[in-house]
Amino acid sequence: MRKLYQEFGLEDRPCVLCGGKTFTLICEGDRYGFDLDKQICDQCGLVQTSPAVKKDFLNVFYRDHYRRLYTKRNDVDHSGLVREQREKGKRFLEYLQKTEVASKLQDLAVIELGCSSGGIIETFKPHCRSVQGCDLDVEAIRYGREQLKLDLEVSEFPTQLPAGPRLFILSHVLEHTHDPLASLKQIKSLMTADDYLFIEVPGLNLVGEGAYSYDLKSYFHLAHVTDFSEGTLRALAARAGYDVLSCNETVTALLRPSAQEELPWQRSDKDTPENILRIEKARTKR
Ligand SMILES: [Zn+2]
Repeated sequence: MRKLYQEFGLEDRPCVLCGGKTFTLICEGDRYGFDLDKQICDQCGLVQTSPAVKKDFLNVFYRDHYRRLYTKRNDVDHSGLVREQREKGKRFLEYLQKTEVASKLQDLAVIELGCSSGGIIETFKPHCRSVQGCDLDVEAIRYGREQLKLDLEVSEFPTQLPAGPRLFILSHVLEHTHDPLASLKQIKSLMTADDYLFIEVPGLNLVGEGAYSYDLKSYFHLAHVTDFSEGTLRALAARAGYDVLSCNETVTALLRPSAQEELPWQRSDKDTPENILRIEKARTKR
């Protein structure tokens, strides 16, 4: 594993949100002891691994190593993963109940990108018009098709989309993608004006509130290309041409595609190196 990471090497690149070229170092090394630096972009405040892990490495990593490293076991416990996914599904439904989607959910076709074995959309199934999902994890898809009888396919993006209004779900995926701006634009190209995009990513600013035992190093993860806050997810969504209907520091968000290719964005005053240091301080105080 470590050998693989060294073989592929790292690359310098501009900020994946704003194209900025200067960064401030905030954290060295991640929780598995890989030698990766986390930096905050001086221009937009997005925290990212920089230099970045190469795309080829990420592909091999997800195909062969991610689940085992993450779950610390060789055989993947799909039923355990499905239980976690169902809990997420319930939480997502509760979140959506407070949005304009609530009154429309029954008429929406739900499509999850990166659905793993499908526990989230299984939870959505009784509440919406249809559910389907895709993921590159062959074993997870097999489990969901056979055990949960769901409409799932091995693919990065859905190969077929139902007509009529749709709700796309992207749960804990965007922080792993090599180019999150390109990913959001690509999803937008699948959407019509009646569609919604629900996103959840782990919220960096929650670390200061006690998540991950206040430990930035345990929060930072080799596989996170980017580490979002409410502010930086809002900015990224605007750059990709989405209107943000709601977003919080969890980070959970509901978006709609706008007619514009890109919308104006601004940096949140919460996304500063000082705030990250506040997170570290909260930890030392305990
Ligand atoms: Zn930036």
